[in-house]
Amino acid sequence: MVGAGIVRLPERPMQRRSFLLGSGLAVVSAAAQNPPPRQEAVESATPAEEPALVLSQVGFLPQSRKTVTYRLASGEAPPETFTVRDIGGPPKPFSITRPLAQAPGDVPNCLAGDFTDLDREGYYQITAGDERCAPFFIRPDAWRRTLPKAVSYHHAQRCGMAVPNIHPACHLDDARRRDTGEHIDVTGGWHDAGDLRKWMDATMMAGFGLLRLARHLGDRWDLAGSGLPVLLDEMRWGNRYFLKMQDKDGRVWADTAGGVNGDNSDNHWTDNQAGTADDRYINPAKPAMVQSMFAALQAMVAQAFTASDPDYAQACLAAGLRCWEATEDPSTTRDLSWRVLAAVELHRATRHAQYAADAARSGQALAALQITGPLGSQKKVRGFWETGGPRSAPYWDPVYSALPPMALLELAAALPSHQEASRWRDAVRLYLDEYVAPMSARSAYGIMPLGVFLGSPTAEVYRPIEGELTYRYFMPTRQRSWWLGTTSHLESHAALLGAAARAFHKPEYRDLAFRQMEWVMGHNPFGACLMTGEGWRNSVPYSRFAGPLAGGIVNGIAGNAQDAPILQMEYGNDWRTGEYWTPHNAFYLWALSQLEEA
Ligand SMILES: [Zn+2]
Repeated sequence: MVGAGIVRLPERPMQRRSFLLGSGLAVVSAAAQNPPPRQEAVESATPAEEPALVLSQVGFLPQSRKTVTYRLASGEAPPETFTVRDIGGPPKPFSITRPLAQAPGDVPNCLAGDFTDLDREGYYQITAGDERCAPFFIRPDAWRRTLPKAVSYHHAQRCGMAVPNIHPACHLDDARRRDTGEHIDVTGGWHDAGDLRKWMDATMMAGFGLLRLARHLGDRWDLAGSGLPVLLDEMRWGNRYFLKMQDKDGRVWADTAGGVNGDNSDNHWTDNQAGTADDRYINPAKPAMVQSMFAALQAMVAQAFTASDPDYAQACLAAGLRCWEATEDPSTTRDLSWRVLAAVELHRATRHAQYAADAARSGQALAALQITGPLGSQKKVRGFWETGGPRSAPYWDPVYSALPPMALLELAAALPSHQEASRWRDAVRLYLDEYVAPMSARSAYGIMPLGVFLGSPTAEVYRPIEGELTYRYFMPTRQRSWWLGTTSHLESHAALLGAAARAFHKPEYRDLAFRQMEWVMGHNPFGACLMTGEGWRNSVPYSRFAGPLAGGIVNGIAGNAQDAPILQMEYGNDWRTGEYWTPHNAFYLWALSQLEEA
């Protein structure tokens, strides 16, 4: 992702259909000293031309829950019904009409329609009043057919070789150490995003996405029959780079070309000649999270390649173990979550009891960071995590927000007879039933807000829950120098909910998982599909080296200071909402393969 060169979004004109209209928006504590004008929230988000009727643009599975949202214009008389028509030209015309009703939650200008009972396959369009929605399918492969496109995005992001139709051979001179200047061959891997940098954490996510897809669906992942070799070849390409980033002490470096001073100075094409002035830099820092991600990924690679290339599998496992042995237990919630996942995968790869014990120890530490009591003088929600380490604030993260319960669910699945396994499962249920369910019920779109907060940590809108506890759908804009859309936050919750639906036999988790995915694929206030080449009204990607990439998913819908949604639909080169970023494709593959696993 890009950390510099922020381009301001243009001011929005008056909007017709708001996200927040009359929503009882409250500004508390710090923000109360300088409250933004309430009307600004209404006027700065969704412009008038956005469609009124929005839904999943990839469509629906015949047996899934099906909803449509109608966003009322100010003063508009609400239509009472909507009609679903088969526009595929059936010999006998087909349509059904169902009621529209006020959507539950805190977005009162939205009407909701439900047509879950329609399981007839077809190509449909919905009308209500004078409005119509994007056409959509009901068919068993409605979602599945998007997988090859999402996988192809990773191939297009390859670095260190020519990618036909994308770019000639690149960065064959990567790279030199920032500290010593020593040249080390770290060619290969993937460009992370709309730029050319190779962050280890973000690009290793591509590996997790590909290997989750392989694990959940195996050879069946591509309905065209390309099979596992496509996934494994892609994984092996990325892993060339990851393995080269391991230092002699076993630990791995943070990035190549991330930017020498947090800037964009390494974000350029090079002459492919090592030793010349345009060579890029290796960042020799060794962050805790990157170590656990590396160990987890190598253990997963070992499992995926055991049958087809046992020597490669063993070499990768050995690299992962060297990294694991050189790393201490971390203390923050995010890093502990990756530590648990690493130990679980090492245990799966080796069956050694030591890694089961390590996983359980880290899992206990992670479970202890869950907030199970009434934080902030309220009794509405609990079960979320605290940040851990020196910070006790509630945990949220634009990429890894669902990771703590995901890690405990994996741990319980890997060690089902451990004496603490029921506690880990209970922690996941508490998070889902007393946090995710009530918080996502506040949204007319069924999406999970980004997180909860104590009061207003920054001078902008935080929505009240009860007592001192507040929440935002989107990242605070005044907390740090950057903020961005919540695509990975939502997709990672979809992956969690999909896994939990199977583990706990709760189909309502699966329904909620699809709501998160549907937001990404068009069921949002902009009626915009966030994946290039799928759906309609794709937001304009920020991809200034490779151009548009089929299957690429952008950072997506962010919020302004009023927590009203923002998405670039114009030509402003806005990275915060428009940039491709590897974790979004990774969690898309992870979540969808979880949901499609039979
Ligand atoms: Zn490159």
